[in-house]
Amino acid sequence: MGECVLEARGIVKVYPGGVEALKGVDLTAGRGVTVVMGPNGSGKTTLLSIITGALRPTRGTVEVCGVDVWGPSWIEARRFIGFAPQDVPFREKLSLYDNLVWYGMVKGLGWMEARSEARRLAGELGLSEHLRKPMAALSGGLRRRASIAAALTGNPRVIVMDEPASGLDPGARRGLWELIRGLARDRVVVVSTHITEGLEDYADMVYIMHEGRVAASGPPRRLIAEYAPLSRITVYGRIKKVEVDGVEVYAEGGGRLVALTKSPEEALPVLVKALASAGGVIERVEVSRPGLAEVYYRVTGVSSGEVAGR
Ligand code: ADP
Ligand code: MG
Repeated sequence: MGECVLEARGIVKVYPGGVEALKGVDLTAGRGVTVVMGPNGSGKTTLLSIITGALRPTRGTVEVCGVDVWGPSWIEARRFIGFAPQDVPFREKLSLYDNLVWYGMVKGLGWMEARSEARRLAGELGLSEHLRKPMAALSGGLRRRASIAAALTGNPRVIVMDEPASGLDPGARRGLWELIRGLARDRVVVVSTHITEGLEDYADMVYIMHEGRVAASGPPRRLIAEYAPLSRITVYGRIKKVEVDGVEVYAEGGGRLVALTKSPEEALPVLVKALASAGGVIERVEVSRPGLAEVYYRVTGVSSGEVAGR
């Protein structure tokens, strides 16, 4: 099998009533993790629904593994794609196992095949010990895994997940991203999120959406270098403001000074020395390197929830 690529070009979506949710979006996702980030209402769900063939675009094209999702071979195209929407309709009183078997049969598997597929997927997603529990008894994190399992039924080459990390605590979130990375070793994975925390380590490509457009895209490191090159130094203690070359002090007072700099290695000792010679008593110093949260803020003007006080 050759490489499969998902390619969306010039996607416009105008909802009935006139809301222009997407205003011309291009997205290319190859093997690995492609993350679609953006604040609420920026168009993530609309875009993911369109690229999975669940929602028809007003304009634009979507191709998956070389097949037009909205063309004459649409049935073939959809077989390449698994979609885990934000809220998967499960049958709450039935067991996880029965739910997965049911999804397998909806996807066209035979009874025996659907049963062995349910067990295989539960194994892949660490759900084996929960197979016999009723859906209603599963925690939020396990439900997310279950919805990914349902989307993986039939082993599609492309898997698209809408906000799988939302509502999970940081530990469960990290576990989920680890799992997603594993799935992406030999698949095209597209994931939306509005939580930027830790994504630098998990995303191969990032698209940041803002008001129906892609405001910035690229590998995390490149986005950070381009949009948020400044590290932040925070000094706590009894200190007075000082001027230091290459350091921009942007907040001070209340026993705290916050400064931005391109090269914290060089600036930190100079800053600390200057504060000390001005009679300051330093209690603690923190250096934080910028991440996708800062890029996201720069591009959208919205805090991702993980960056406090800005
Ligand atoms: P996100 O997933 O990033 O929060 P959505 O794709 O859900 O964004 O929504 C993008 C915009 O489209 C929002 O302004 C939203 O209100 C609007 N929208 C979403 N679904 C519909 C719909 N079915 N009908 C009309 N407007 C919609
Ligand atoms: Mg959404």
